[in-house]
Amino acid sequence: MPHAEHGGLGFCVAGTGTDVGKTVFTAALLRALWHVGAHAGAVKPVQTGVRTAEVLTSPLSDMRVYLSAVADMPEAMASHPAAALHCFALPASPHLAAAREHRQLTCAGLCAAVRQHWATAQADVLLLEGAGGLRVPLNAREDMLDVMAALAWPVLLVGGNTLGGLNHMLLSLDALRDAGLCVAAVVLIPTAEPAAGCPGVDVPAMLADNVAVLRQRLAARGVEAPLVELPRLPCLDISAWEHLAEKLLPLAQNLVAWPADNAEAGERLIQRDYTSVWHPYASAIAPPLLTPVTRTHGNRIVTAEGRELVDGMSSWWAAVHGYNHPRLMAALHGQAGRMPHVMFGGLTHAPAVALAERLLASMPVGLERIFFADSGSVAVEVALKMALQCQMGRGEKGRNRFLTPRGGYHGDTFGAMSVCDPVNGMHSLFTGILAQQLFMERPSCRFDRPFPPESLEDARRMLTEHGHEIAAVILEPVVQGAGGMWFYHPEYLRELAVMCHKAGALLIFDEIATGFGRTGRFFAAEWAGVTPDILCCGKALTGGVLTLAATACTDAVARQICAHGQVFMHGPTFMANPLACAVAGASLDVLLEEGWKERVAALEQGLHAGLAACADMPGVADVRVLGGIGVVETCAPVNTTALHRFFVERGVWLRPFNRLVYLMPPYITPAEDVEQLCAAVRDALRAGVHMQ
Ligand SMILES: *Cc1c(COP(=O)(O)O)cnc(C)c1O
Repeated sequence: MPHAEHGGLGFCVAGTGTDVGKTVFTAALLRALWHVGAHAGAVKPVQTGVRTAEVLTSPLSDMRVYLSAVADMPEAMASHPAAALHCFALPASPHLAAAREHRQLTCAGLCAAVRQHWATAQADVLLLEGAGGLRVPLNAREDMLDVMAALAWPVLLVGGNTLGGLNHMLLSLDALRDAGLCVAAVVLIPTAEPAAGCPGVDVPAMLADNVAVLRQRLAARGVEAPLVELPRLPCLDISAWEHLAEKLLPLAQNLVAWPADNAEAGERLIQRDYTSVWHPYASAIAPPLLTPVTRTHGNRIVTAEGRELVDGMSSWWAAVHGYNHPRLMAALHGQAGRMPHVMFGGLTHAPAVALAERLLASMPVGLERIFFADSGSVAVEVALKMALQCQMGRGEKGRNRFLTPRGGYHGDTFGAMSVCDPVNGMHSLFTGILAQQLFMERPSCRFDRPFPPESLEDARRMLTEHGHEIAAVILEPVVQGAGGMWFYHPEYLRELAVMCHKAGALLIFDEIATGFGRTGRFFAAEWAGVTPDILCCGKALTGGVLTLAATACTDAVARQICAHGQVFMHGPTFMANPLACAVAGASLDVLLEEGWKERVAALEQGLHAGLAACADMPGVADVRVLGGIGVVETCAPVNTTALHRFFVERGVWLRPFNRLVYLMPPYITPAEDVEQLCAAVRDALRAGVHMQ
């Protein structure tokens, strides 16, 4: 999707390599754009081989070429249509040229410079010319393609029509596709030196074949961009520029009419949304407030208006590494190339086996078998079914109910719903349909206070009275998530585990929200040092990229389920999806390599510091922080729509519900962004936006 800023349209010009003619193309297109009435400009964010003082005179300066293409057009020249933002003397790759002058280029810095330039340049159409090919490095980590991806402007790809040119062109198209960039046109220019003539080789026929093959390949990839052939002219005088510009007039017209991705386009999307789709926990006839978004990167979500929101939700606990992490994307693309999916009945594959081994190694000792499911709710269904089948295998036919604390949340499918909080959950809606489970008091023991033993009284009573009919106790360890963001004392779990064991009930930990470091331990079970019989994980399992969940159980549970020749009766179509498994493997790598523990500790510190002041604000009942979770509990349900508007206006993404304004930012969030999130919460509460 193209991007409109300052009321104009931006396009990137990328080459398949150096010296393919992209500067001449950019300059000629600049002229063509002026011919079709656009106030166009061209900008070179990084110019190497040219000192700043020589940017108008050096034969290596691209800015000089742009200006020469419109030198006879007074209205174009009057608008200062060309600029170079960073010049370096060394004629080399940007990372080397900058380093020579003790400077460092960054993607964010270049994007900011481009936006600032555009704010003053007043161009309707801005052409941004890269440096060399797409993968030319800017620094140790980022390259030119990252700048184009961050700007998200459509790309005009220029390549040489020569031997090998097709190869570079197709590889560049792959890179643009993987970056999610739209190709606005593909431009072929013959090289200065036509392919050295071997006897019997018809060079013009060969170059014509390049064009034909490229057309076929573009069609096969579904790229609808026009293919433009431009001649290479020996001498670039005004008549040569005019000749090239004439050839580019149709393209220029095309670009000027490009559908802008802007607030208006976002508004149209909302209207289409309202007539055809449904949102979570929402009405179809009184539809909810929606913010259209187009891209993500790092800890940012980009709206259709081009606003960047600091993410404070990790997309419901999932995107712990932020978005588009290069390692996760590489795993996704690599696995997509090998095998996106196969059925798991009768077949197996390395991504699933390796992930199962690694999950078990990271879980509490004693869990030895993994069942993959496709969402958290299904993982909970699987856990409940495992417990029932396990009790059947033990010959305990009367154990077919579950005991769970109030205030829990375990998903939206029927089995999972039956163990959600009976008041805030959907029990009243489905009375008589939901299985009748047993409920005990929510653990009243705060995480941050000494443990009161009486908080287990109700659990003890229920297990005594109903022990014989209970298949398992299911609960979220330490943190009750969607049911109230409540943090309770780990000692509760230690004693509960002993009581369950005595009562012959299995213990199921639902770690779908708490898993993978969020509470400050890799799994929240570690706070208590308890190994449950069954453990569910999901949400952050793939770092927020794809849907995948897993249910683990002990060897004893697995054996009891499968006693007497029985099998476990579950098998989702997309079980152990290889794409999701491969990304989950990469996510585990990144958690370890990037030091999740230190990052979550830093989040905890930032959230503590940033939210403390909320405790004294109007309508606030409690403030609590654990690991990467910060919660402000209010006295009355908050006005979620007013807060949504307020937060988006403030450049942050938070989604409060009921009496909870809560934050769980991606682990990669820098300290200043944690503070920006907290400041938005403080200001909203201070202004009483939640009580509107
Ligand atoms: C989100 C959640 C679920 C449900 O997972 P889905 O992937 O949404 O089906 C179950 N249990 C807990 C604790 C959760 O937070």
